[in-house]
Amino acid sequence: MRVQRNDSEPEAGLVRELLRTYHWMLVVLAFSLVISGVTVGYHLLVAQPHHERHVGLAFEMRNSRIGVLEQSAALRGWLATDDDTFLADFSAAGEGADRALGRVVRGVSGDSTSGLTDAVVRVATTRTAWNDWAVGVIDKDLAATPDRAVIRDELGTGRDLLNEFLDANNESAELMFEERQVTLGHMRQSLLGGFLVYVVVLIAAAVSFVRQRRAVDREVVTPIKGLLHTIERLQTGELGARSAPSDVYELDQIGNALAGLASSLDAARRDAKTRECRLATLATGFETVTRVGREISGSLSVRYVASTVTSAASDLTGGPTALWVRGEDRTFRAVSRSDDPHGVTPPAELRPSEAVAVAAAEARTATGEDHRAYPLVLAGMVVSVLEAPNTDIDPDTEQVLEVLLSTAAAALESANLHSAAKELADVDALTRLPNRRRFDVDMEAEWDRSRRYGRPLSMIMLDLDHFKATNDEHGHVYGDEVLRATTSALTQVMRTSDTAYRYGGEEFAILLRETGLDDAQAVAERLRATVAAVEGTRPGVRVTASLGVAERVSAMAHHTELVAKADTALYAAKSRGRDRVVMADG
Ligand code: GH3
Ligand code: MG
Ligand code: MG
Repeated sequence: MRVQRNDSEPEAGLVRELLRTYHWMLVVLAFSLVISGVTVGYHLLVAQPHHERHVGLAFEMRNSRIGVLEQSAALRGWLATDDDTFLADFSAAGEGADRALGRVVRGVSGDSTSGLTDAVVRVATTRTAWNDWAVGVIDKDLAATPDRAVIRDELGTGRDLLNEFLDANNESAELMFEERQVTLGHMRQSLLGGFLVYVVVLIAAAVSFVRQRRAVDREVVTPIKGLLHTIERLQTGELGARSAPSDVYELDQIGNALAGLASSLDAARRDAKTRECRLATLATGFETVTRVGREISGSLSVRYVASTVTSAASDLTGGPTALWVRGEDRTFRAVSRSDDPHGVTPPAELRPSEAVAVAAAEARTATGEDHRAYPLVLAGMVVSVLEAPNTDIDPDTEQVLEVLLSTAAAALESANLHSAAKELADVDALTRLPNRRRFDVDMEAEWDRSRRYGRPLSMIMLDLDHFKATNDEHGHVYGDEVLRATTSALTQVMRTSDTAYRYGGEEFAILLRETGLDDAQAVAERLRATVAAVEGTRPGVRVTASLGVAERVSAMAHHTELVAKADTALYAAKSRGRDRVVMADG
């Protein structure tokens, strides 16, 4: 049972046990004191005086007896010699006997509990009788009597009287001896009684102390050992260690205080651990952000920036992420997915509408049940949206993610602008085909590759026939329309390894990789037929093209020679009547 401290029981627990032991010691001491006091008091105040009184009385009785016997001897001396000095001795011995007897009488006066008083009275009476007889003998001056018979008779009477006195004296002495023996008996009994009571008290105290010792062992020592064990466990870092409740209030208080301290320590340790984890998370996060920032800030590729950002964001959020980048048409397309490093275009149904981006910008609302959208905002404009799993991300990671995304927003926009500028530089605005500049770059690269590996390389130069007339007749806008339609038709039938370029005006160049002259001719024929099949939206408009085809030959020193050959073949086609394919000669 747990001891609760309250005002009515202020000495609960350890103090109670100590006080209980102390009280027991006091009781034992008090008992010992009382027993010793009673025993010693009885001896000193009652038994000892009693004993001494009877010893004194016996002594005085003996003195009176000696005195009377001395008187008797003096009387006998006087009677025998008639010498008066014997009478002086008689008187002196008589006074001594009277004084002794007087002290005896005073000593027994009031002693009504025994027959001693009667015996002493008889001694005194017989003494007086004998003394009166002796004085009578002296008064009659019997010493001077020559008649010995008279003296003998008197002495006979005196002997009888003396014998009575001696008997009475003996009887008194015996009574006094008995009284002394009785007193001694009482003294022995009182000593024995006191000793027995003392032994009983000591046994009771011993039993009580043994029980108290066990109680202290059980209620104090064992809980203290438990407490010490708990302290040891706490010292070794086992902060969950608790000591069992005991019956000792103070130990429970110490135990509770220790438990409180351990809890606080545990909480502080957990707190420090959390802080340490947070710092580690932040440090790792910011390290990632710094690394990613360095990587993406130097890149002008939207795809590279996007894949780096999705990979880092995936590490932070612990799930696959996708980066949706805003295109020129203000819709978002997924440029990179962390679980698809090669950046495969996701299925159409995953394309978020612009509304998702707007919503994400406004409140970062979830795009679905298990996804969230994080907007990448630059200059107040959402340039991109990160799609991440809708898991619980701790605030620190979210903060790191925010920094990452703000860095990514700038890098993405920069890469976006760069790719737009690059497109402007390389792509023809009307037909969306690579332009002449791009053709020169690609041609140079393909030329080198073809020469290095001895692979075939061909090209076609294509020019629309009488296009000036179309323009003149229907206007430039319509001419543009025809150009676009022609481009579309061309790109649709072209092989994937071939590339068409808008070389200039209504002139197109087609680069045919890994293609010899014969195959190039076949391609050219197909293209010619395709163009011829293009139908204008206006009646009477017929679109045809002339094509010149050339293949790289080893005699050519520069790629411009290949272009010139194709050009020459084109002009040959023109001059031969147009709407045809002409192969460059060797
Ligand atoms: P030919 O059969 O000899 O090639 O005759 P042509 O009229 O096609 O040749 P020419 O070189 O004289 O005329 C080319 C015309 O193409 C001139 C120009 O008005 C037109 N043209 C060039 N670029 C464009 C363009 O971007 N849009 C439009 N609508 N017309 C263009
Ligand atoms: Mg032309
Ligand atoms: Mg032309």
